[in-house]
Amino acid sequence: MRLCIFSGSSSGVKDSYSLASKTLGRELAKNGIGVVYGGASVGLMGAVADAALHEGGEVIGVIPQSLFDKEVGHLGLSQLHVVQSMHERKAMMAELSDGFIALPGGIGTFEELFEVWTWAQLGYHPKPCSILNVDGYYDQLIGFLDHTVRQGFLKQSHRDLLIVEQDASKLIERIKSYHPPLVPKWN
Ligand code: AMP
Repeated sequence: MRLCIFSGSSSGVKDSYSLASKTLGRELAKNGIGVVYGGASVGLMGAVADAALHEGGEVIGVIPQSLFDKEVGHLGLSQLHVVQSMHERKAMMAELSDGFIALPGGIGTFEELFEVWTWAQLGYHPKPCSILNVDGYYDQLIGFLDHTVRQGFLKQSHRDLLIVEQDASKLIERIKSYHPPLVPKWN
């Protein structure tokens, strides 16, 4: 199994973000789960990759040529794919993975998570989409998503496709036992 990790190219202001990223990287490797991610060595992206590699895990990076210098492409990975565009990056990351985890991050992280989650909503793939809600970082986003449900723009069943956990081990267990529900977007 391989899981795709979306996370900040920055580390954020709290140490807990980096610590949780390293814990997740280690836990994935210990569980024999490969990591697919954006291929950078900076921020939380680098923290997950380094921790998984240190534990002997497989880590595959996918980075656009144009970002190779800015995000400092990680040269110590099991595989590093340098692609031509962001679209190619996201498509390859999704293809190589059996599920998705978002760690704390900025708008790049949000965009990547929302893309795979909306694809799940449309039934384009059956893979689990999840958030590791480190230190309550995503609480306000989760609150807004519940507002979106109440306002009639998102079905509760599609909201429930997104797994939210605070603990890396619990999250991995939920992903491993995930069975995609059959919930059509269009009736
Ligand atoms: P951020 O969360 O903004 O620090 O970005 C995390 C990762 O998302 C980085 O590897 C960015 O290159 C990537 N990213 C930034 N913008 C986008 C976008 N529009 N679509 C997909 N990924 C992006």
